[in-house]
Amino acid sequence: MSKNIPDIPSDATPADILRAGIEAAGGPVSLACSFSLEDVAIIHLAHEAGLELGVFAIDTGRLNEETYEVADALTERYRLKIDWYFPRHGDVEALERAEGLFSFRESLDKRHECCSIRKVEPLSRALKGLAGWVTGMRREQSITRGELAPIERDELNGGILKINPLINWSEDELIAYTDQHRLPRNRLYSQGYRSIGCAPCTRAVKPGEDVRAGRWWWENPENKECGLHRR
Ligand code: SF4
Repeated sequence: MSKNIPDIPSDATPADILRAGIEAAGGPVSLACSFSLEDVAIIHLAHEAGLELGVFAIDTGRLNEETYEVADALTERYRLKIDWYFPRHGDVEALERAEGLFSFRESLDKRHECCSIRKVEPLSRALKGLAGWVTGMRREQSITRGELAPIERDELNGGILKINPLINWSEDELIAYTDQHRLPRNRLYSQGYRSIGCAPCTRAVKPGEDVRAGRWWWENPENKECGLHRR
């Protein structure tokens, strides 16, 4: 079990939050990386600050080609070792044989079934042995993320720490940081995407729409989480 959650001043920088979280965890900490702008920024700032941070990624089997390109660019630039996790193949075979390839569009339950098999179960294996995990979640991203804390105890995953270093960053601050450091960027952002997940469940958003409006766009806004960030 990690130590107590440290107090984080309101003016703490992302690097301050990350450092405090890693120190408080008192053991191995990894970033759950989906190769978003946020995750790329965290990899860069951890690298710059000399922080010990692992990186794992979940290959759901339904990712965009452009996402793999970012993974490849990061591996090259930072000599990064990414711990890839896949869904259990028997579960995916059973799902696709019984329900077809697009069952997640039929109902919220079926969408959760797919996310559970392809994301949540691999996440639970990825978190085993960790003292903490890092996410790129930001408060302004959607109505489901307004109550986030910089460092939380993840009771649903054994009480390890969950560290959200970019919690206070706006999208403009994030983009400015990634521009300033010329960080790898998923090409889909230039096509109007603002939050990128699995290919069939993500689309570009229109000007003025919520950042996550392109995720599971057929559902209500309060349902737009995949189960990785249950609270
Ligand atoms: Fe399945 Fe879509 Fe969830 Fe990916 S985001 S795991 S394709 S329902």
